[in-house]
Amino acid sequence: MLYAWIDGVKRQPIAKGEKTICKDCGGVLTAVIPMENVKHWRHKAGDCDSWSEPEGEWHLKWKEYFDLNCREICLIDSVTGERHRADILCRTNTELATVLELQHSSISEEERLSREIFYQQNHQMFWLVHIHSENGIQ
Ligand SMILES: [Zn+2]
Repeated sequence: MLYAWIDGVKRQPIAKGEKTICKDCGGVLTAVIPMENVKHWRHKAGDCDSWSEPEGEWHLKWKEYFDLNCREICLIDSVTGERHRADILCRTNTELATVLELQHSSISEEERLSREIFYQQNHQMFWLVHIHSENGIQ
């Protein structure tokens, strides 16, 4: 995940060694400051969102188009307790509540369906898919 709450601010990590608590699951998060990739937080005991995937510059740039309060919002199925983090959630608590899923890598049809079923329970949902060739040309 790119953002976490630390000292009352939702942000990316800044420095190695930073630690905080995931507001979604209560797990410990540690700062990851890679040389070649975006700064992010890692759950010490495994991500609370089983759909979580590595995110890079592409995800970061798209997320930055939206207000910080709309980025990486945890949604919980009230019946099953299943939880997933929407990449973007706009117009929360209105009839126009909208999830935008940013998809950089390919996923199976089965996974696509399960994500659509989950997010469309209480929201409209759109995909933003990164179409690119395998050789890295974007
Ligand atoms: Zn968590």
